[in-house]
Amino acid sequence: MSDKIPVGILGATGAVGQNYINLLENHPWFEVTYLAASPRSAGKAYKDVVESRWLLGANVPERVRDLVVEDANDPSKAVGRCRFVFSALELDSKDEIKALENAYASLGIPVVSNASAHRWTEDVPMLIPEINPDHLAVIDAQRKSHGWDRGFVAVKPNCSIQSYMIPVYALMKAGYEVKRMFVSTMQAVSGAGYPGVPSLDILDNVVPYIGGEEEKTEREPAKIFGKVVGGKIVNFDGLKVAAHCNRVPVINGHVACVSLEFGDKKPSLAEIERIWAEFRGLPQELNLPFAPDRPIIIRHEPNRPQPRRDRDEDKGMAVSVGRLRECPLFDVRFVGLSHNTVRGAAGGGILNAELLKAKGYIA
Ligand code: NAP
Repeated sequence: MSDKIPVGILGATGAVGQNYINLLENHPWFEVTYLAASPRSAGKAYKDVVESRWLLGANVPERVRDLVVEDANDPSKAVGRCRFVFSALELDSKDEIKALENAYASLGIPVVSNASAHRWTEDVPMLIPEINPDHLAVIDAQRKSHGWDRGFVAVKPNCSIQSYMIPVYALMKAGYEVKRMFVSTMQAVSGAGYPGVPSLDILDNVVPYIGGEEEKTEREPAKIFGKVVGGKIVNFDGLKVAAHCNRVPVINGHVACVSLEFGDKKPSLAEIERIWAEFRGLPQELNLPFAPDRPIIIRHEPNRPQPRRDRDEDKGMAVSVGRLRECPLFDVRFVGLSHNTVRGAAGGGILNAELLKAKGYIA
């Protein structure tokens, strides 16, 4: 018998769920034992649900092909069949997702979520493990306030902000105040899930609107850079963000053009490069399986990073940056890129779970 931790995937049939299946195939710590999705898929073998819409290569992995998909709306089915779940659910409302994720936690099943429903719950950590692993501390308060013993909910932030949050944090950690950030994103179609944006809307086109995305982009950094005070996360109010979010005809890989304004102390371009090249976080220190060796990869070619060429760097977990230069409006500008369904979704969720295990929250 395997000594890996049995894990479930809620929303296993969707774009993010499929990425979880793929990335967890040979994971050294976790083994997929439980799959759940909508009532439409429940009761069927996984392969029969996803074969015609499998996004990741030729075949649905052997290990999960014949697993029967359960109804994610019935958390009792997961009891005894997995130790924790990844949530990649898309339901009609955030309240429904919150209630369902809480229901799993109340049954002693920790939830590592990709959904946005709980991102603003004060005692739910919104993790980028290189930036705010100290936010795990709110889990004890969360458990206490709900009366949960083993269960809890932890989330990851929006997929597009991953492409620049680590580079910005690295500069803040090195002692540079970042006061204002202007960001314009070009986001891949896989970010909209399956089947996503109709082909006749996106091919030969750019759509300058993604519902809710600009609000998330502007708000989430405040919580990620926040401080734990009395069992809650108190938002950081020292950074103003303005965002434009665009959908572009790329399959995977979100790009962000970012301008930064610093406080009185301003780093030179050479100093920024040095900080980025040397930056490492707790996942690298702990040598977590999904931690990229170098979280930030710097490109010097004038036309990089590009989604097709750079999104898969270090298993899709590294952020690529390039075109670092001065900005005539703010201080500096650069281009960031990350793989939205890996670092920005399933890979990011797996790194969160690895951190939670390493810190003893997932037994
Ligand atoms: P998706 O492709 O639309 O998949 C949605 C999943 O939810 C499917 O497994 C679907 O099951 C299930 N589902 C739908 N209605 C349900 C219901 N009534 N009850 C139970 N399950 C239901 O979406 P996605 O892109 O994978 O996104 C999943 C979540 O991750 C979302 O919350 C999204 O905001 C978030 N996210 C996505 C990305 C990305 O890059 N795509 C990045 C970060 C975060 P059926 O197949 O049976 O319908």
